[in-house]
Parts: sequence; C-alpha cells; structure tokens
Amino acid sequence: MSAVDPIRWLRDFAALIDEHTDELTELDAAIGDADHGSNMRRGTAAVVAAFDEPSAPLPSAVLKQAGMVLIRSIGGASGPLYGTFFLRAAAASAEAPLDATGFAKSFRAGLDGIVARGKAEAGDKTMFDALAPAADILDEKVSAGASLADALDAALAAVEAGRDATIPMLARKGRASYLGERSVGHQDPGATSAALLVRAARQAVL
Ligand code: ADP
Ligand code: MG
Repeated sequence: MSAVDPIRWLRDFAALIDEHTDELTELDAAIGDADHGSNMRRGTAAVVAAFDEPSAPLPSAVLKQAGMVLIRSIGGASGPLYGTFFLRAAAASAEAPLDATGFAKSFRAGLDGIVARGKAEAGDKTMFDALAPAADILDEKVSAGASLADALDAALAAVEAGRDATIPMLARKGRASYLGERSVGHQDPGATSAALLVRAARQAVL
C-alpha cells in the first residue's frame, strides 16, 4: 500500500519553498507586504530543523510537530493557517498511515482547519481557492478507488488550476483585501505556496 511519507512531504515542501522564495515574495509585494516568501521559508526550514532524525514517528506526530513549529515561527497570516492545516491533518490521521484514504481524510481536515481559522470562502482570492479543488478531487478519486499517486496527480492539476484562477479574483480576505480592485490581475501568494504543498505531497508518495 503506497503512502505519503510525512517527513519527505515536509522536507520537499521546504525545498520547493526555498526554490520559490523570491517568486512568493514578488507576488506578495504586488498585493501584500512582500513577506510571504520569507515567512514560508523561515517556517518550513524550522519544521525541517526540528525533525528528530533517529526516530521514525507516526505520521500524526510529524504533522502535529510541523503545525506547532509553523505557528510558532511564522509571523504572518500564513503561520496560523498552515499551522492549523497540519494540526488538523495530524488529528485526522491518528495512528494511521497517509495512504490514499488516510491522506485524503487528513487533507480535507486540514482544509477545514484553514476555513475554521480564516473564514475564507470560494472566490476570496486566498490559499483556499487552490486547496479546495484539490481536496475535492482527492475525495472523488479516492472514493472511486484510484491509487494515491493518481489521486495526487489529479490534485496537483487542480491546485495549480485553482492557483491560476486567483489571478482575476478581487481579494476579500487578508492583507490583499485592503487593495480592493487593485488586487485584480495578480496571483495570490498563498495559493502559490499551496500548490507547492501539494507538489511536495505528490513527490513524497512512497
Ligand atoms: P500576511 O498577509 O500576514 O503578510 P503572508 O504574506 O505570509 O501573511 O500570507 C498571505 C497569504 O495568506 C495570502 O496570499 C492568502 O492566500 C492567505 N490568507 C490571508 N488571509 C487568509 C484567510 N483569512 N483565509 C485563508 N487564507 C488567507
Ligand atoms: Mg505578506
């Protein structure tokens, strides 16, 4: 049974964030305060630094620790949002591996946590607009019996389409909402990092 390796997921997320730090910062410079790249790099690097190398802990323990470290180490809105994603995903995965069913369930719980925290709705131009279509297709594929790799391929296409779909949106949540009409025509930074989160999960299927 294939599963997402949680440590690989978080390491690859950190590596992708590191590769895309400047892009995330430039996107946030256009409609925010130019700190999304540095926020995410600081947070994900702290998550990786906190891994306890010799142990092979349960996925839930890895995800829970990641959530706590992100909340502690990121100053901006994305800290509590991504932090809550991982805390809720951890609670949903309990002692189970992140196989197709377990991963879809954890991802959905994580998304619900982001909504509980930030109250974003579809079309508000946030990370939600990228993550929600990914959660939907994951549920759909997994219920239909798809493999985890196939479900995550579909989720990656959905998260990237959701990210791109934020460009014409008018921001209604977060700092970008202060810009009103001037937020239109720019890709949301959090939706962009969210696509990297799913890309990292796809890479972490073992
Ligand atoms: P800050 O806005 O505090 O500077 P970041 O720049 O790190 O924090 O993160 C900005 C991203 O956070 C936005 O691009 C958006 O995707 C996401 N975001 C902001 N507010 C919300 C919210 N209420 N719900 C979901 N996502 C949000
Ligand atoms: Mg910012």
